[in-house]
Amino acid sequence: MPRYEYRCRPCDETFEVSRPMAESSAPASCPSGHEDTVKLLSTVAVGGSAASSAPAPSAGGGGGCCGGGCCG
Ligand SMILES: [Zn+2]
Repeated sequence: MPRYEYRCRPCDETFEVSRPMAESSAPASCPSGHEDTVKLLSTVAVGGSAASSAPAPSAGGGGGCCGGGCCG
């Protein structure tokens, strides 16, 4: 399923929504529930990795004390 990028005006942040192409032009609510969003002309990368610099929380590992060698 393609991912579309939207921007929330109240949050002033962008977010992605995975939805069918048939609904690509439908309004999208931001994760906080705002409906004042605009669709961005993002590249729809199906099967590819986004060139976003945003951190992926689901990547797992890192960021904690363990892994840096400070936990013994
Ligand atoms: Zn919002």
